[in-house]
Amino acid sequence: MRRSGVPALAAAVVLASCTTSVTPVDLPPPDPTVAPPASTAVEEVIGEFGAPGIGDRLYPELGNGGYDVERYRLELEVGTDWSVNAVARIDLVPLENLSGFNLDLAGLDVESVEVEGFETVAFEHQSRELAVDLGGTAIAGVQISVTVGYSGTPRSVPADAVPFRPGWQQTDDLAYLFSQPDGAQSLFPVNDHPLDRADVSLAVTTPTGVEAVSGGTVVSESRGDSGDTVVWEMTDIAPYLIPLAIGQFTLASDRVVDGVRYDVWVSDDLVDLPAVDTFEIQPEVIAFFEQRFGPYPFDRAGALIVDDDLGAALETQTIPTYTATSARWGDVVIAHELAHQWFGDSIALEQWDDIWLNEGFATFAHWLWLEERFGFERYDSEVEAAYRTLSGIGLTESGVTPAVAADRVRAAFPPPDDPRASDLFNRSVYERGGLALVALRDAVGDEALFDLIRTYTQRYSGSSITTDAFLALVDEVLGDEPAALLTSWVVDVDIPALPGRGLVPPR
Ligand SMILES: [Zn+2]
Repeated sequence: MRRSGVPALAAAVVLASCTTSVTPVDLPPPDPTVAPPASTAVEEVIGEFGAPGIGDRLYPELGNGGYDVERYRLELEVGTDWSVNAVARIDLVPLENLSGFNLDLAGLDVESVEVEGFETVAFEHQSRELAVDLGGTAIAGVQISVTVGYSGTPRSVPADAVPFRPGWQQTDDLAYLFSQPDGAQSLFPVNDHPLDRADVSLAVTTPTGVEAVSGGTVVSESRGDSGDTVVWEMTDIAPYLIPLAIGQFTLASDRVVDGVRYDVWVSDDLVDLPAVDTFEIQPEVIAFFEQRFGPYPFDRAGALIVDDDLGAALETQTIPTYTATSARWGDVVIAHELAHQWFGDSIALEQWDDIWLNEGFATFAHWLWLEERFGFERYDSEVEAAYRTLSGIGLTESGVTPAVAADRVRAAFPPPDDPRASDLFNRSVYERGGLALVALRDAVGDEALFDLIRTYTQRYSGSSITTDAFLALVDEVLGDEPAALLTSWVVDVDIPALPGRGLVPPR
């Protein structure tokens, strides 16, 4: 759910102050002794159509404007051929008076759209936008419920931001969601942007013998001849963070440690993979992070390990998703995805171009975990390796002149707060973002740094963040010099030096 800008206006207030109302001007003045009929006591309100994008700087077409989703209720019936028969009920609150609005939905066939209280709803589904014309006006601040019936076979979607197609991934015997940044719309109609978080109730019916796995809390489970249905409840989640996998799965581990449940679900084919045992370290990782970042924001963690070769993992909320490839990366990836539960999941982005706030923190966090597990030298070697690549030192050591090296790294690695639309997950957002926190740690020490991070998670848990707001917080907690240092790491074109380590970039 979006936490800012929701007007808490009563409908009557909106009516009285509305500037787009139609006022009959050619009627005689009413007889003051006779109460006017109800129909003329309230002016008619004409709303506008919500924008087809939510206002993202880097990806203006993502998400939709004019409303805030409170809850999705999704009922999906999955066939043996991976076809989906579905009903999505979406409770949303108009942020302005709306005559209609868009939902994001890629592919799939929309069969019906109904909106409670509106008799003449029309819809048009083109490309990835489902436009809903209400045939009337929904009043700002007054929740409406939209029900979309649809079916088809989900397909992943093209995205500029990443070098693969996010959303529904499918192999012969497995399907799963890997949605960052905007692949949730491959499965259901959605306001597909992290700025609009919502509660989700997800009911999935699978053929008998096929398992569905998701996150949050299981609220009901039923098994029958016509299939198995499981219902999950997820709270305050960005659409791309919804986990889901369907296929043959085994619950390899279900420990509860310090009130957190660690379910490790594994594709049957991967149960004997030695890497699966590595996930037993998760409670230790979380305990270590809690001391530095503050309380773990959820009551579940764990892992969803799918038998696919995609070279990535995703911080799906309460149960990160790993592939057979990424599960083998061990401590690095486990610590990284668990750190995202604080940075990216509990604290969400308002704008995708601030992605370093997710990836820089998760990278710094997995370096910290490597230090804890394998010693300071391991942390230091990760830091130095990242710095050599991003600064161009590595290039000069292989014979490139300093000026050419500096030009090449400028072209390859934009500053963390300015990634290109075609390359959102540039190494800079991870490693220069992480190095920014290393530089801050070098400058102010552990006590001050982790005080800052705990203040950050306490203040922004469950809400959204921007780079500007984070830099303002650094200024407030640590003062203007540390804030200026961090700004140079995040904003300046050229990477700063790491003087304490004798690392100076070639120029
Ligand atoms: Zn990450």
